[in-house]
Amino acid sequence: MSVLAEFAAKTGVKYFMISFTDLFGGQRAKLVPAQAIADMEEDGAGFAGFATWLDMTPAHPDMLAVPDPSTVIQLPWKPEVAWVAANPIMEGQDVEQAPRNVLRKLVAEAAEKGIRVKTGIEAEFFLLTPEGDKISDPADTAEKPCYDQQAVMRRYDVIAEVCDYMLELGWGPYQNDHEDANGQFEMNWEFADALVTADRHSFFKFMVKSVAEKHGLRATFMPKPVEGLTGNGCHAHISVWDLDGVNNVFAADKGEGQTGELGLSQDGAHFLGGIMKHAEALAAITNPTVNSYKRINAPRTMSGATWAPNTVTWTGNNRTHMVRVPGPGRFELRLPDGATNPYLLQAVIIAAGLSGMASEADPGPRYDIDMYAEGHTITDAPKLPLNLLDAIRWFDKDKELKAKLGGDFSASYMKMKMQEWNAFVSHFSSWERDNTLDI
Ligand code: ADP
Ligand code: MG
Ligand code: MG
Ligand code: MG
Ligand code: MG
Repeated sequence: MSVLAEFAAKTGVKYFMISFTDLFGGQRAKLVPAQAIADMEEDGAGFAGFATWLDMTPAHPDMLAVPDPSTVIQLPWKPEVAWVAANPIMEGQDVEQAPRNVLRKLVAEAAEKGIRVKTGIEAEFFLLTPEGDKISDPADTAEKPCYDQQAVMRRYDVIAEVCDYMLELGWGPYQNDHEDANGQFEMNWEFADALVTADRHSFFKFMVKSVAEKHGLRATFMPKPVEGLTGNGCHAHISVWDLDGVNNVFAADKGEGQTGELGLSQDGAHFLGGIMKHAEALAAITNPTVNSYKRINAPRTMSGATWAPNTVTWTGNNRTHMVRVPGPGRFELRLPDGATNPYLLQAVIIAAGLSGMASEADPGPRYDIDMYAEGHTITDAPKLPLNLLDAIRWFDKDKELKAKLGGDFSASYMKMKMQEWNAFVSHFSSWERDNTLDI
């Protein structure tokens, strides 16, 4: 009997949502009745790839999304439906540019090297009115709204419902708060293997949006939804373990071969070195939209800080840099934003990290300064890309990173992102008229 059919028999699930993620992070699904799931588990559900952002033509053969039964989740807010992540194939081969396949390949490559990457993410979001143009809580207007007790309680129904679901799902949620922008929230759960985190990240976005809709609100992970307020980050905390997942090979207290600096081992420093070396190219994936560059490189926000980087620097427990080492055995990449593709985020971290380990990359000097106040004093650290085009060009130049992510993927990604940039610049804006009419 198929695993999913058995799951349906046990839980009473009526429909399976066979879901895959395209290059732009869009989640695409078919709803398959439980009676038909056994065949689909074997063969996959059919899709026309061209109809999604996967760089295919209308002439391509059917793409089949084959569910991975180990990911199945009964929707806590709609128990008659179950979500299951799928791996796209075409004519019997993995679709190379499909984000979950890109990540699976890199996880396998890391395993060949005897390591297992574990990550936790902080996917910030705003709760807006259904039209998406206003913060849903009109009383949420404080200049420094972070951790606002009264405001988080006014959204208790949404936050507690999502947290209850994460508890039910066994994700180990441990805190929820109002974040630094009016209308902004963050919910944290325990780190796990990169692929598990990517599936959960994907599902988290689906769950938060669904629960917000149920309560008559609209949730957004858009990098900078409100001008002048702190944007939606998606920080990633990263550590590397042995294959058993028992020993953290980033922890500096494990014997030989360590720099000991800030509790990062030699391997940890090299992995970080890879992230630093590829940072500008990484941005094409961690900050993948036009709007992303209004979060990084941003002017001061109403609360006093953007909490986002503009320079490729690292430090200890200090939130003004691109990378923070908050404690022994892990580091935090503060670059990614809410628009990052959950699978490509993990994939690019592993790709850059493996490249760093292979070349014994040096993370460069550590700066323990307040980057927001004193950043101008650092002249030898690279600046992050200024806009999406800049990031795409950095990505295109980074042959090593492109090869690690896969040639087909990288070519497709570049092409789709260039199309997006061209669509953006061909859009006439009022700014042009205001600044050019009288020239
Ligand atoms: P902060 O806001 O201080 O950056 P959070 O508590 O919001 O941190 O999020 C921290 C994330 O880092 C969580 O997902 C947590 O599980 C994860 N994390 C903690 N330790 C590790 C580790 N060793 N490796 C990877 N992730 C970790
Ligand atoms: Mg049809
Ligand atoms: Mg946090
Ligand atoms: Mg935060
Ligand atoms: Mg953080």
